[in-house]
Amino acid sequence: MTSSDVIAYLRWAQCKPETEMPLFSFDVYDLLEQAKYSLPALKERKVDLWIAPQESLACIKTEPNGAQILIHPILNRVDLPIEVMAFILGHELIHLIIRPRLVDGVMKSHPPEFFEFEEATQPHRAFAWNWIHIALNGYLKFDKEREGTFVKWQWRKSRSHAGPPEQIIRQLVADSQYRQKIEGLI
Ligand SMILES: [Zn+2]
Repeated sequence: MTSSDVIAYLRWAQCKPETEMPLFSFDVYDLLEQAKYSLPALKERKVDLWIAPQESLACIKTEPNGAQILIHPILNRVDLPIEVMAFILGHELIHLIIRPRLVDGVMKSHPPEFFEFEEATQPHRAFAWNWIHIALNGYLKFDKEREGTFVKWQWRKSRSHAGPPEQIIRQLVADSQYRQKIEGLI
């Protein structure tokens, strides 16, 4: 290996996102296809998925030839309920349909019609936010101004806690007081 090979390798390694293999109990790529097909405007759209560390819990990047969904590794766990990932993928895909716009002079990536569309198309929204809030409690920052959910640097410790039982989440979804509290956070 010459020094120019080493430099070429280092450049390549820097460009390549530090990705993880999915650990989920379901096929996340299959789920992405299903999520795309449930939104007719996106059936033909090429969308890739990466599990890679970044500031936010999930985001979508658009490029001329397609789009890339980036999922933070804090979500890459065998006990992640399929409903949580279905909601996250749905949310990110809706960004391809409802574009950012000015609301009262401020550019919003989640204008009111975004949430209306999300409410109408994503049945697992309440379940997903409840699970995220409980299972990842202490590892996230909810930032209303930046319109995002950000992951704290200590996130790896979250992998040592088991996720909450599904039954508990379903009970909380049915609890209107608790639901209001969660809605206030997001
Ligand atoms: Zn969003």
